[in-house]
Amino acid sequence: MFNIDTSVCMSCQICVEVCPFDAIKMDQVFEIATGERFLELLLDRHDLAKPNSYFQSLRPTEAAEVDGRLAAERKAAEEKAKAAALAKAAAAAKPVPPPKPPAA
Ligand code: SF4
Repeated sequence: MFNIDTSVCMSCQICVEVCPFDAIKMDQVFEIATGERFLELLLDRHDLAKPNSYFQSLRPTEAAEVDGRLAAERKAAEEKAKAAALAKAAAAAKPVPPPKPPAA
């Protein structure tokens, strides 16, 4: 569950700084006034989620850096998985030595 209560958020950006997944970005839409003080100002992750294209239009330089880093991490993980699969296949294809005869 992820909620932000915008009635108390002071836009300090601490959540942006500490997010371990780089998943929280500050928006530039500040006009969120409403007549309902409580529930309409409590935003859940569906209210807050934006497509990557939105982040790219908002902060193109940072978005390019994040996209490049994530693509490199994804490629490294795919190569690691591929190497592990090859090693597993090689180990499975290796002939099993015959059992030693029992000592007499
Ligand atoms: S910016 Fe983030 S950490 Fe700061 S008050 Fe708002 S929700 Fe909390």
